Amino acid sequence: MSDRAERIAAVGFDYAAHETEPVAACNLCGSTDLAELSTRDRYGYPAPLAMCRRCGLGFLSPRLTAAEYGAFYEDVYRPLVSAFHGRRIDAETVQDDQRGYAAELVEFLRSTLPSPPRTVMDVGGSTGIVAGAVRDAFGAEATVLDPAPDELAVAAAAGMETIAGFAEDFRPGGRRWDLVLLCQTVDHLLDVRGTLAAMRGMTSVDGHAFVDVLDLLIAARKQGSVEGAAKIDHPYYLTRDTALAFFRRAGFAPVAERLSGDGHWGFVLAPAEPGEPDWDGLARGAAAMIEELQVR
Ligand SMILES: [Zn+2]
Repeated sequence: MSDRAERIAAVGFDYAAHETEPVAACNLCGSTDLAELSTRDRYGYPAPLAMCRRCGLGFLSPRLTAAEYGAFYEDVYRPLVSAFHGRRIDAETVQDDQRGYAAELVEFLRSTLPSPPRTVMDVGGSTGIVAGAVRDAFGAEATVLDPAPDELAVAAAAGMETIAGFAEDFRPGGRRWDLVLLCQTVDHLLDVRGTLAAMRGMTSVDGHAFVDVLDLLIAARKQGSVEGAAKIDHPYYLTRDTALAFFRRAGFAPVAERLSGDGHWGFVLAPAEPGEPDWDGLARGAAAMIEELQVR
């Protein structure tokens, strides 16, 4: 057994013993025509990765239920990621990483937003590191929406408004923000379409959203296999093309984009009329990805 496999085994998470559910239809296009790319994730857990043949969206199916994911993030996620990387990853180190991330994001927003946002909402904003950096850079009022009360307490102590909950369930009651962020979060969601629809409803008419996405193709090529890119903490696997298709359906148009060194696309989005993506082009892209990535 490799050192890494031993460390992962020592975490003691028996994936197969937890409750999972199939994902019958694609969250982007609704198709049920799926190809199986791989049967195991990077930790060695039996979590099959499917790809929709109609649009190229990747997703785990079956996957942990929502309740199981809640327990997973509570107890297992950080020890597991620490075991995988062979170094301590906890609330403290995550905050350090986020400070660097936030500084880069602020520079990107400064060069792409037409005017400074007066209000910012960070969806899945954790302890408020990113929202706080945006607040300080632009003089905006910051709100953090997150399901974890202990992380929100840190944001509240730093003077931010906090709202406990999931984006999919949040009802803003007509309230809107100039800038709505979804940072390093989309791959962890259980409903990408529902979250983007909620974000569209939270964005001011002349406001913007920012979403970043880890590109499955780039990640799989970098890891040398799709199994190296698959992990139970990511229910979804997007690419630049499927991200743009999600945005179009949700009523967002890209106004700027960047690709970071670790394979994340970052998009600044403006509200637009919802529309249909180029399904034929997506299907051709899906066929090419399945051909390249499928573990045989
Ligand atoms: Zn699809």
